[in-house]
Amino acid sequence: MKYNSTRNKNAVVSASQAIAQGISEEGGLFVPQDLPKYSLEEIGAMTKTDYRGRAKKIMGDFLEDFTADEISESVDAAYTAEKFGGENPCPISYIESGNKKMSLLELWHGPTSAFKDMALQILPHLLTKSLKKTCDGKQAVILVATSGDTGKAALEGFKDVDGTKIMVFYPENGVSPMQKRQMATQQGGNVSVVAIKGNFDDAQTGVKKIFTNKEIKDKLAENNMLFSSANSINWGRLLPQIVYYFSAYCDMVSEGKIKLGDEINVCVPTGNFGNILASFYAMNMGLPIRKFICASNANNVLTDFIRTGTYDKKRHFYTTISPSMDILVSSNLERLLYHLTDGNDAAVASMMKSLSEDGVYTVSGDIKTKLDKYFWGGCCDDENTKKTISRLYKEENYLCDTHTAVAVNVYEQYACETGDLTPTVIASTASPYKFAKAVLSSVSDNALPDDEFAMVDALSAETKTEVPAPLAALKNAKERFDLSCEVEEMPQTVLGGLKIG
Ligand SMILES: *Cc1c(COP(=O)(O)O)cnc(C)c1O
Repeated sequence: MKYNSTRNKNAVVSASQAIAQGISEEGGLFVPQDLPKYSLEEIGAMTKTDYRGRAKKIMGDFLEDFTADEISESVDAAYTAEKFGGENPCPISYIESGNKKMSLLELWHGPTSAFKDMALQILPHLLTKSLKKTCDGKQAVILVATSGDTGKAALEGFKDVDGTKIMVFYPENGVSPMQKRQMATQQGGNVSVVAIKGNFDDAQTGVKKIFTNKEIKDKLAENNMLFSSANSINWGRLLPQIVYYFSAYCDMVSEGKIKLGDEINVCVPTGNFGNILASFYAMNMGLPIRKFICASNANNVLTDFIRTGTYDKKRHFYTTISPSMDILVSSNLERLLYHLTDGNDAAVASMMKSLSEDGVYTVSGDIKTKLDKYFWGGCCDDENTKKTISRLYKEENYLCDTHTAVAVNVYEQYACETGDLTPTVIASTASPYKFAKAVLSSVSDNALPDDEFAMVDALSAETKTEVPAPLAALKNAKERFDLSCEVEEMPQTVLGGLKIG
């Protein structure tokens, strides 16, 4: 199976090249030329295996130039019971509220308490193997732009991995105190963390520009290095996310919540469109998904896009209590557009050009029709996010984080508006303890303590839930990184950090 660039069909690469390179030369994203297709029988067979078995089957079908042993090794090393707190890395909590059936797929039991671990625990294994196949001996420099969770998950995945260096850029005022602390205290000899004076979109654009800057790339090459990406623009990030939609479906069948062949909906709190896109791939591979419900916070550029067909990033940027979704340029939408246009690279390139030059593009009537068929978009502001956390906790005894609450709220809007009561998988994307202040103030009427870890303890006492051990351990950890830079200084910061500036 080969991969194309969304902006140039003539760029054809293998799976390992796509993963090693991260992004195509002209700025497009790599997409598979075709997809493995599974019959209901084959999906039924997956119910007989565990998460690791499902991951080996699905990822093996995509990674043609990997041996079965290489895939097994990677999967077994990534999804251990030790790292994910149990044999099933992503258990489901079922909530029946009135006539609504919600399956909260908890993707945050990994080492950094956010769903990014599901992909970033395995990406380093895939990437180092890809590098060996395609450019033996070169050191990979992983640049990451983060709205909070990717940064920590990538640092944790890549720390002390031979042949790699990793540098993370995060918006100085755009992450939660816990997220900041997680990154500032990161261990490892090959890691660095830099705050930028700008928002996530500035960080992401800055990183993409460095990736495609010929002068900088040449400089790296002279020093036997090359850039790669751990953001969801890298195919190696998206692929592992397809697995958990199949796995959730299998678990729902095994746990008697649905019958094999029944349709489900999927609702995802969305930022860069990676997670929801993985579910769209799963549907195209045979998983019976009826509707994709795309949930946004006050940064509702995707809601407007899905409803009108016009993507317009020229709008106010809000800093919200669900910071991992504070994004106005959703990178992976480009992959969706490629598939919805049946692989029209010229059309995608032209829309992306309009977006970067004019800040806006409108899709054709044909694409809009397909969007309507598959997607439903909705949004939820901070006040309603908090009300949803409070209500879920008080009525269902379920404590969720701010991002998950956005998804639950939007799902309820969807069910109300459409009357569609298909059982729905809601992606639960982070531990409530990563956003202790917003969550605690939603469930408790007491005055808030002002220290982050006092809030964590108060939340645990109030709700009688456990603080994830890696977060509790941060209380006494030493901060290692306090660097910050202007957006314009990012290229120089990278070269300086690599000591080749
Ligand atoms: C990254 C993140 C999201 C958004 O996911 P995308 O794949 O970027 O759409 C949602 N919630 C949390 C907690 C996240 O960390």
